[in-house]
Amino acid sequence: MEMIANYINGELKPPHSADYLDDVNPATAETFAKIPLSDEEDLKSAIASAEKAFPDWSGLSAKERANYLMKISNLIKDNLEELALAESIDTGKPIQLAKTVDIPRAASNMEFFAHAITQFSSESHAGKDSINYTLRKPIGVVACISPWNLPLYLFTWKIAPALASGNCVIAKPSEITPYTAYLFSKICIEAGLPKGVLNILHGTGPEIGNAIVQNKKVKAISFTGGTATGRKIAEISAPMFRKVSLELGGKNPALVFADCNLDKTVEGLVRASFTNQGEICLCASRIYIEESIYDDFKTRFVEKVKALTVGNPSNQNTNMGALVSAQHLEKVKSYIALAKEEGGKLLCGEEAIELDEHTTKNGYFLRPHVFENLSNHCRTNQEEIFGPVVSLNIFKNENEATSLANESEYGLASTIWTNNLPRAHRIGNQIETGIVWINCWMNRDLRTPFGGMKNSGLGREGGLEALRFFTEPKNICIQF
Ligand code: NAD
Repeated sequence: MEMIANYINGELKPPHSADYLDDVNPATAETFAKIPLSDEEDLKSAIASAEKAFPDWSGLSAKERANYLMKISNLIKDNLEELALAESIDTGKPIQLAKTVDIPRAASNMEFFAHAITQFSSESHAGKDSINYTLRKPIGVVACISPWNLPLYLFTWKIAPALASGNCVIAKPSEITPYTAYLFSKICIEAGLPKGVLNILHGTGPEIGNAIVQNKKVKAISFTGGTATGRKIAEISAPMFRKVSLELGGKNPALVFADCNLDKTVEGLVRASFTNQGEICLCASRIYIEESIYDDFKTRFVEKVKALTVGNPSNQNTNMGALVSAQHLEKVKSYIALAKEEGGKLLCGEEAIELDEHTTKNGYFLRPHVFENLSNHCRTNQEEIFGPVVSLNIFKNENEATSLANESEYGLASTIWTNNLPRAHRIGNQIETGIVWINCWMNRDLRTPFGGMKNSGLGREGGLEALRFFTEPKNICIQF
């Protein structure tokens, strides 16, 4: 069985504790690797090596750092098959999704920030008797903490800008899906990334995650994960005046107007609701439909959802694989029971799942569930489920649609489906989410600000926002 190792000071190392956790394949419920349970001693070594590496790494030119990122990006592309298979085994996601989305995007993250840093210029402001220019200096040792749903994709989304802008990094992947982060450390070694520039520590959130957050030598934290964890990180960081970027949960509304292209909308929303088993922070979970087309939309939507294939993630035709863990499956099932208690009518979800010889009845499979007849403020419509469960709801007019969508503690992403252009812009302006997609979903341009409002987070990732986050601005004024 593969023993995953930490990556500290350029080398693969077992944890100081010599303790390990099981890494489980969600499609079979079998352990396939062991995850190091890192502790304070591992963190001390990682921070010491990052501090030692910082002067040289931050002293390189942007182009020199970019060259390392490009080497890593190319190695990710060269190892696409191995990485995609590992991601699928670790998360339960369909291999096709890992091959076409997760791993290519991890390569793009490294490539994008390799290019972006060479274009990151400082501002200057000329006045009557003076000129100001702003230096953007790397911060020092920073931490990147990522979740389990898009493992390598989100891990590299943080590491790339942190490294590109000259910081040294302590990174912690989720203990639920650590495997591609381990393969990534091997890629960094192969790329010749200088020792200590990136350190990857494995282990649980309450132990090594918390130790990283408590450590005052960590000068900034980029975190993606649950809102409750984000709140803890903010509380610990506030007295240190430490920079934090928090990408948190969502409960994303979709607004469907009678004037939309119904075929494209149904297809788009099936994808938006159930891609990656509904385990994407951006997935639509509350669908609001204009009254006059409600029945038509419902019939077509449910028909397409019932046609989705759920099963063996390594089968090319599988639409949905297994949920990530037994614990998560239980959580999602508890919300299904709750939705029924709250008066929800189940339109589909209890059909049988066909398993083949590569999956077992122990795998964490769940068919996509669609409910209707739920009130907007019930828990099913307000709390993040983060699985294949959506609700269909009715609205009468545009104002009601916007206010139902905004009646939420979250504000991450929304989708609007209409052919009325002024309406699309109007709602785009009024809706309280950091990301608005009109007649599409997950159409991503890495230059754009990415993140949420309200309980969905603090700060933005992407493009220049990420490079600004990972640098400290220093203004210099010269009088003529
Ligand atoms: P989580 O908060 O449980 O864990 C995220 C990471 O934080 C993991 O690496 C975990 O080990 C670590 N962690 C946990 N407790 C910690 C602590 N006390 N101190 C430091 N680190 C700690 O979240 P999860 O269950 O892995 O991920 C699912 C959540 O992530 C969902 O809420 C989802 O919406 C959110 N998410 C948000 C985005 C976004 O971009 N906004 C993207 C993906 C996922």
